[in-house]
Amino acid sequence: MKEQEKTKKTAPADGKQLKKDLQVDFPNLWDRITDDDRERVMAFSEDYKTFIDMGKTERSFVAVAVETLENMGYVPLTGQDHFEPGSKVYHTIRNKGLVAAVVGTDDAALGFNLIGAHIDSPRLDLKPLPIYEESELVFFKTHYYGGIKKYQWPAIPLAVHGIIFRADGSPLTVRIGENPQEPVLTITDLLPHLGAEQMSRKATDLIKGEDLNVLAASLPFADPELAGRFKLGLLQLLLERYNLKEKDFVSAEIELVPAGQARDVGLDASMIGAYGQDDRVCAFTALTALTSLETPARTSVCLLFDKEEIGSEGNTGAQSRAYEYAIQELFVRISEPGRSQLDFARMLSRCQMLSADVSAAFDPTYASVYDSKNASYLGHGLCLVKYVGARGKSGTSDANGEFFSKIIRMYDAAQVPWQTGELGKVDAGGGGTVAVYLASLGMEVIDCGVPVLSMHSPFEVTSKADVYYTYVAYKTFFEKA
Ligand SMILES: [Zn+2]
Repeated sequence: MKEQEKTKKTAPADGKQLKKDLQVDFPNLWDRITDDDRERVMAFSEDYKTFIDMGKTERSFVAVAVETLENMGYVPLTGQDHFEPGSKVYHTIRNKGLVAAVVGTDDAALGFNLIGAHIDSPRLDLKPLPIYEESELVFFKTHYYGGIKKYQWPAIPLAVHGIIFRADGSPLTVRIGENPQEPVLTITDLLPHLGAEQMSRKATDLIKGEDLNVLAASLPFADPELAGRFKLGLLQLLLERYNLKEKDFVSAEIELVPAGQARDVGLDASMIGAYGQDDRVCAFTALTALTSLETPARTSVCLLFDKEEIGSEGNTGAQSRAYEYAIQELFVRISEPGRSQLDFARMLSRCQMLSADVSAAFDPTYASVYDSKNASYLGHGLCLVKYVGARGKSGTSDANGEFFSKIIRMYDAAQVPWQTGELGKVDAGGGGTVAVYLASLGMEVIDCGVPVLSMHSPFEVTSKADVYYTYVAYKTFFEKA
C-alpha cells in the first residue's frame, strides 16, 4: 500500500472506454445485426429446417447430402485418378458417414482445412427380435442408442426410419410417420392415478430400459382360436405390404425418432426446435459452408461421422481409419506423384480442423450446474471450446494455445462473432467429441459449435442467429485459416 501511495496521481481514465478496451465481451447477436443480416438469418434457418427434416438419421442425412452434392457438381472421389484445384468431390463411408471436399490452389502438402461433425443422434433402435404380443396388443422391443433421459421418450409420437433386408438380400428403406397422413408409433406411459410407485423412483429408473416398448399394432389375424394372432396379424401386414418376415428384423437397422418437423420456437420465432440438432446443426452448417466456397487456397474438407453418440467406434465412427484413408485418397489425387506415406503423415500434421459439435447453452432454470462465467449463451454465436472431457479434463484433446489464438485472431479480423464456454461446472459431469481421434493423427484441432438447450432431448433448441453465424464462421475457417 505504501508503494502505491507514493505513485504520482494521473487524471482518472475514462472508465467506460477502459472497460471496453480491457474486458472481454461476447455481445448478443440480435443487438448488432442489421435488417439485411436478419433476413439472411431467417432465410438460412428455413433451409436448415428443410434439410434436417429430410435427414433425420445418419443414413438419411448422407443420402440427402449426396443428392445435394451431386446436384452441385460434386463427383465421387475414387472415380478419377487426378483432380485439379476447384474440383468438388465426395466419398461415402458405408452410407453412414461422408467426406466431401473442394480442392484448393495451395500445394496439398501444406495440409487441408477440415471441419468434422457427427450425424448420428440419440434414439431408440429396434432389438433383433423386436415383435411380441401381450394382452392383445403388439409391441416392438427397443434398445436405446446414446445418452438419453429414458423418461422423455414415452407418450410422444415416434417415426420409424432405417433399412431392412429381405430374405433375398434386397433392401427396404423405411420412413414411416413423418408425413401427417402416415401413422406413428408410441411408447405408453402410466396414468398418474396409478403412478405413485413409479413416481417415487429415481429419474434414471422412472422408465426402465426394458420399459421402452413401442406400441406397434392391435389388429388380430382373422382366426379367434389361434394363439398369438395379434402378432400374426402384424406379420401378415408386413408380408403383404413390404414382403418382410420376422427373421428379416435380425439384421435390420431400424431407428425410432421423434416424429414431426423442425419448428420455430418462441412467439418471435427466433429459435428452432427439432430432434437431433446435436449434431446435425453443425453438420448442415459445415456442409453448407463447404458448398458455398469458390476455389479456396487450402483444400477444404467436410467430414460427417457416425457413432459419435456411442464412442465413435465401428467402421463408420471417427475412430475408424476409413476417414484417414479417405483423406489419403484425396491427397494422392491432388498432390505430385510419388508422395510417400511419410509425406502423407507430414501433410496430416499440417492440417487444421474444427471439431464441430454443439455446446450446452446456459439454461437459467438449471443454473446450478453451469459456471455462468464460463458458459456459452444462446444467441451469442459459435462457441469455441478449448477442452471438453470430465473428471479433470479426461477424454479431451485440449486445443493448443497457438492454434486457438490463431482461430480467434482470424475471426476477430473477419468480424465473425464467437464466444467461448465450458460444458458445465467442474465435476458436474462432462462429455467428449470426435476431436481426440483426429488430433491423434497429428493435426491441430479445436472443438466448436452451436449452443443448444435441452441437448439430447427429443426437442432440442437453438438460436437462429447462432445457426447462421456458425455457417459464416465455418466458411471463414475454410477460406482464411
Ligand atoms: Zn454431439
